[in-house]
Amino acid sequence: MTIRDRYAPSPTGLQHIGGIRTALFNYLFARSKGGAFILRLEDTDRTRYDESFVKNLYDTFSWLGIHWDEGPDSGGPAAPYVQSERFELYKKYARELVEHGKAYYCFCSAERLDRIRAEREAAHSSEAGYDRHCRDIPPAEAAARSQAGEPCTIRLKIPLGETTRFRDQLLGDIEWKNDDVSPDPVLLKSDGFPTYHLANIVDDHLMEITHVLRAQEWLSSTPMHVILYKAFGWEHPVFCHLPMVMGQDGKKLSKRHGATSIDEFRRQGYLPEALLNYVALLGASYEEGKEIYTLDELARRFSLDKLNKAPAIFDYKKLEWYNGQYIRMKSDDELAALALPYSITAGLFGDGTSGSTGTEPSAEQRNTFTAAMPLIKERLVFLHEAAEKLRYLFSEPAIPAAAEFIPKKADLSQAINLLKQGRELVQPMAESNDEDAEAIIKAAAEAAGVKLGDLMMPLRVAITGARVSPPLFGSLRILGAKRALGRVDAALRALQE
Ligand code: GLU
Ligand code: ZN
Repeated sequence: MTIRDRYAPSPTGLQHIGGIRTALFNYLFARSKGGAFILRLEDTDRTRYDESFVKNLYDTFSWLGIHWDEGPDSGGPAAPYVQSERFELYKKYARELVEHGKAYYCFCSAERLDRIRAEREAAHSSEAGYDRHCRDIPPAEAAARSQAGEPCTIRLKIPLGETTRFRDQLLGDIEWKNDDVSPDPVLLKSDGFPTYHLANIVDDHLMEITHVLRAQEWLSSTPMHVILYKAFGWEHPVFCHLPMVMGQDGKKLSKRHGATSIDEFRRQGYLPEALLNYVALLGASYEEGKEIYTLDELARRFSLDKLNKAPAIFDYKKLEWYNGQYIRMKSDDELAALALPYSITAGLFGDGTSGSTGTEPSAEQRNTFTAAMPLIKERLVFLHEAAEKLRYLFSEPAIPAAAEFIPKKADLSQAINLLKQGRELVQPMAESNDEDAEAIIKAAAEAAGVKLGDLMMPLRVAITGARVSPPLFGSLRILGAKRALGRVDAALRALQE
């Protein structure tokens, strides 16, 4: 059997962590079995539909580097893969169910349904939903009324007094009394649009989906889906309901916990690899102790029995850790290319005023930026941080207050002396590699009988404008002796005033 699975989002919102987790697991499962991964747009809810959500879907997955074998853009044997282009099909299948006595026309007005709901609520009735009012209208009469143009929906005739059983690949055997399933849900609305349930089942069948991996919030719909498959006389796919993704407080992950839309992670400077790697481990465990996986490695290891039943806790700190790891794996050129757009937006290459956001780098600035990558790679967590960390290389930093230059247990005149000694080392250090530069300053500190740290500190503050900064030696090399000396002299003047 060829495995076929799908990601079937409704374009009613931005792509978020839960959605891409579902997509990724389906993708990995299909890959692990040499099967096909399908994208299907479930755009039956036209009131909440928005074109921009479709665009967001494509943007997100092309950024993540996840590709489907069949889908609205790539086509395939079961095309079209957009439900709104398949409406005639659902009508046909719904009418077929009616003909076979598995579904029926309901002529109840919206007002009547509202009234029933209100009455039941007022009576605190445990019964909810439709009262099956039209279930027993003689089929010939109902067909005639429908044919005559009387507005109606088509409802599934849930067989009462029975129990529906199915096996969830992860959760095991599941049983549900039919009388507890939503009473005779609508399959086809009066405007001829299908509901999610009908379209979803018809498509999974026609697209020959063998496995449905989806979030556990859909579990309560599954008994009804199984009943629907039976009504059609079709075999249902294997179901596997994935553990929910929770925030650290054990509640369903939401905006209260932090970013959830992929757009937001992207804007914050996350790398797609980091996000994918982390999300792949949400609700699945692979090798003890191994945390970094490429997509290929994940695809080779994925299997349904590695999924966890327990909810997955989304840990933002862990995701940050992953981002840092993936940043360190980039070459300087790659990292520069990734971080550059964020730095342009941050105005790194302009004159530092708010109007400078968006200023493109000159060729020289671009080279400087790339050369500076080794200085920050080890500490960067987000791509957008590059601009802040490297600003001192692109514009003259403000000279800090005198106190910033003074090492512990020293005074201003000692600080000035230390900076003067440091000044002598600027040229040779700017012309040396790290190792040699370190040897130069160590020897100088020893000769002068001062602590290495005390010699470095005022120099660092003069060069970078801060006590905490990217590495000093590399900074000197990138700035060059002339610019570096200019900064030291400016600092010395300020300190001596
Ligand atoms: N359209 C549904 C969603 O938005 C699909 C659920 C399923 O996978 O069956 O998640
Ligand atoms: Zn009715």
